[in-house]
Amino acid sequence: MTGHHPRTKGSSEQRVEAIEALLIERGLITSDVVDAIVGTYEHDVGPMNGARVVARAWVDPEYRARLLDDGTSAVGELGLGGAEGEHLVVLENTEDVHHVVVCTLCSCYPWPVLGLPPQWYKSFAYRSRMVREPRAVLAEFGTTLSDDVEVRVWDSSAEVRYLVLPLAPDDMSGQDEDELAGLVTRDHMIGVVR
Ligand code: FE
Repeated sequence: MTGHHPRTKGSSEQRVEAIEALLIERGLITSDVVDAIVGTYEHDVGPMNGARVVARAWVDPEYRARLLDDGTSAVGELGLGGAEGEHLVVLENTEDVHHVVVCTLCSCYPWPVLGLPPQWYKSFAYRSRMVREPRAVLAEFGTTLSDDVEVRVWDSSAEVRYLVLPLAPDDMSGQDEDELAGLVTRDHMIGVVR
């Protein structure tokens, strides 16, 4: 049986703080450097984790079933978990349903699979408008959905964090799991892109 590998609470946060402290100590810090570190979590480290989860679910139906049944446990099988992801719910997009995630209150986000939230996710405009007029906001991300696709907006909280499982490509033949993971972006997994 594959074990669950919980990480120390707040490990990402602690790591960032430690790096920042070290840079200050050596007199090397600039806001550009801090931005680069944050950028790494936003664009590289985090979403790559979620993309691995998605690709596994696309190629392994049994894994997908476990992922939809208990997201926290299933991402734990891939060694992912910990702070800000203790109760992870995975939402499966279908031809008929599109899921999109917001935190209306602040910026709750599934760190272990997506890293740190992008700036726009934390903006008041996104938080308030995604609930009121999801189709209009999605269109601004370039995502136009036909009327027969139902849009479901999920409000993250301190307790529950969401990850969208995007539709698999029509033709996955000849692509291994790593290549499939390379197709998956942060925005797919937040649900602002279909
Ligand atoms: Fe929040």
